Amino acid sequence: MAFDIFRNILHYGCHFLVPVLFARLFWRQHWKAAAMIMIATMVMDADHLLADPVFDPDRCSVGFHPLHTVWAAIVYLILLLIPSWKVRAVAVGCLFHLFTDGMDCYMGSLKQGTEYAAVQALKNPPGAGFCAAEIIRTDFSVPGQRLPLPVN
Ligand SMILES: [Zn+2]
Repeated sequence: MAFDIFRNILHYGCHFLVPVLFARLFWRQHWKAAAMIMIATMVMDADHLLADPVFDPDRCSVGFHPLHTVWAAIVYLILLLIPSWKVRAVAVGCLFHLFTDGMDCYMGSLKQGTEYAAVQALKNPPGAGFCAAEIIRTDFSVPGQRLPLPVN
């Protein structure tokens, strides 16, 4: 639960606050406009509308939705070459959006990994092998339940 809250604060902080930092860093003159452009690149999430279901917390958007693919990333990289701060703000916004979504996927995989480990630990608690051996020995010790001696 605390992990989910941390994950969401980090995710949306990256989507909405880091663009402002980037804008201050790269485009001091037009930082407000640059920040707005980068935040506006959130519209690339409109490609989720093509998916069914539109939102799935356990699905990684990177590599799944069309504007979140490697091909899209290549286009965003090419946009960086265009000598216009507005176009570059779009490119940085999109690339950082992919980074943010990717980081969220990584954190999701960590959580799923932990949950998987917890389920496995419940299924096979430490000493489970020993318990199984105890049960077998108990069964064999019941009179009349002994295995017949091997023939030969
Ligand atoms: Zn996204």
